[in-house]
Amino acid sequence: MLEVKNIKKRFNELEVLKGVSMTFSTNQITSIIGPSGTGKSTLLRCLIGLETIDEGEIVVDNEKLLYTDAALHAHRQKIGMVFQEWHLFDHFTVLQNITFALRKVKHMTKEEADQKGIELLTKFSLKEKANAYPNELSGGQKQRIAIARTIALEPRYLLFDEPTSALDNETIKEFIDICRQLVNDHLGIIVITHDLNFASKVSDQLIELKNGYVQSNIKTKEYFTEKEN
Ligand code: ADP
Ligand code: MG
Repeated sequence: MLEVKNIKKRFNELEVLKGVSMTFSTNQITSIIGPSGTGKSTLLRCLIGLETIDEGEIVVDNEKLLYTDAALHAHRQKIGMVFQEWHLFDHFTVLQNITFALRKVKHMTKEEADQKGIELLTKFSLKEKANAYPNELSGGQKQRIAIARTIALEPRYLLFDEPTSALDNETIKEFIDICRQLVNDHLGIIVITHDLNFASKVSDQLIELKNGYVQSNIKTKEYFTEKEN
C-alpha cells in the first residue's frame, strides 16, 4: 500500500498542497484530475521523492519515506515515474535505453541486461525496434519504451503525468491495454489525466484535486454505471 498522509507542500509563499491524503494499492488504477496549476504534478514529484514535503508522511508498505540518499534510492526502486516528454536518451538505441538503468541501478552484466531488455521489448511489441533510435519511432512507441524502461526496475507503483495528452485515439487504446496488463501483473498505476473517459471508465479510483485539497475521491466501478462498456 502507498499512503499519502495529510501532506503539505509549499514553494515559498505559495502553499500548493494544503493537507492531502489518499491511498493507492497495487492491482489498481487511480486517476488524478483537477485544474491546471492545482498541484497534481507536484504531488507525483512528492510521491517519488523528487520534492520534499513540509508536513505529513508518505508511506510505502508501512515504511515512511525518509530523505537520505539511500532511502530515496530504495524508494525509487519501488515507485517509478514515466515523465510527460518520455526523457529517452536520443543517442542510445531502444535496447540501450532499457539496459542502461539495469546495468547502472541493478548492476546487471551486459548479457543479463540485454536478455531482460529483449524480454521487455517483446512484451511491449517492440523487439524489432531494439536497434532503432528514439527519433525513428512514433509517439506511442516512444511511450512504450519509456514504460518498458521504468518497468525494467520492477517497481510496485508506476506514475504517469498526462500520458495521453499527445496521443491519438488508437494509441490511447494501446495505452489503456498496457495499463490493464500492468495492473494484472500486480502494479499500482497512478495517472494524472484530463481524459475523463480514462478517468471514469479505466481507473478504479478517481481523485479530484482542487485548491490544494482533495475535492472528491470515488471508487469508479461502484459510482459509474457500466452500461456503455
Ligand atoms: P498541475 O500539475 O496541477 O498543473 P503543478 O503541480 O505543476 O500543477 O504546479 C502547482 C503550482 O506550483 C503552480 O502554481 C506552479 O507554478 C507551482 N510550482 C510547481 N513547481 C514549482 C517550483 N519548483 N517552484 C516554485 N513553484 C512551483
Ligand atoms: Mg502538471
